[in-house]
Amino acid sequence: MISTISEYTSKGKAVILNYHRVSEHQSIYDNGHMKAHHFENHLRWLSTYYNVIPLPELYINLQDNSLPPRAACITIDDGYYDSYSVIFPLLKKYGLQATFFVSTEGLETGSLWDEDIKYSILNLPSIKTKIEIKGDTFDTSNFENRLAAMREITHKVKYMSLDYRKEYIEQLSRECENELNHHTFINESHIVEMVENGMDIGSHAHSHPILAKETDEISRNEIAKSKSILESMAQTDIDFFAYPNGKHGADFDDRHVGILKELGFKGAVTTEKGVVSSASDVYQMPRFTPWDKSKVGFCGRLITNFLGK
Ligand SMILES: [Zn+2]
Repeated sequence: MISTISEYTSKGKAVILNYHRVSEHQSIYDNGHMKAHHFENHLRWLSTYYNVIPLPELYINLQDNSLPPRAACITIDDGYYDSYSVIFPLLKKYGLQATFFVSTEGLETGSLWDEDIKYSILNLPSIKTKIEIKGDTFDTSNFENRLAAMREITHKVKYMSLDYRKEYIEQLSRECENELNHHTFINESHIVEMVENGMDIGSHAHSHPILAKETDEISRNEIAKSKSILESMAQTDIDFFAYPNGKHGADFDDRHVGILKELGFKGAVTTEKGVVSSASDVYQMPRFTPWDKSKVGFCGRLITNFLGK
């Protein structure tokens, strides 16, 4: 029944799914991680009921109006180590291909800003009952308050300019008396192995900036730098981009679409909800994150998405 309904509703449309972190074991600090068995269920249902196609193939199908019925694409953002250690083996197990959008700064430093915040707070000496960063004071006197501080700092930092973000995180690290030298990110050999096994790599800018907050020059450098680093590692063209945070207006705008075109990207994905069809702007293809734990919920959500509700 799922197949019949969605065959009818999905004609000429495709859904692009967006995942981030997937872990086998997670602590209370890992807010927003999906459990591995939960992700594996999604892959099982996708491989049973949907035609999972890689993003470059979806792009060609959109150009010549040849999308298969119930077409679905899998994308994974950021490039954290679980992309390689948990997600990649599961994709191989089900014979599925996905696009990994990587923020290349993590390849150089071993982590991105949100993990740096988590690391600092996790390793805060127990006698520190409060921390002060650039005039902001956070109560860290007990576990709940530390968790709340981590969430508040993460939310604040996400929308800061790159320069201010760097200063803020460095001061946080000093306040917490620890070094930012932990590794939570994939590396070049992981990228090479994933590409050799049919995975596709896309750019997610260099330092995961909110592009709308940066000058055009910084945005262009962020995008071009990440494209060239990934092209030299993957030994292939990097044709697709995922806007960090991904909302048109708040996180990026038409200037950045123009920069992608100038730099030779074929298309880009956002975090706006919806389905793609031949009528879609390939530089602003919508995606959505399915959190459903049951088969009926998951497949139902995909059908609802195809219906455009
Ligand atoms: Zn991201």
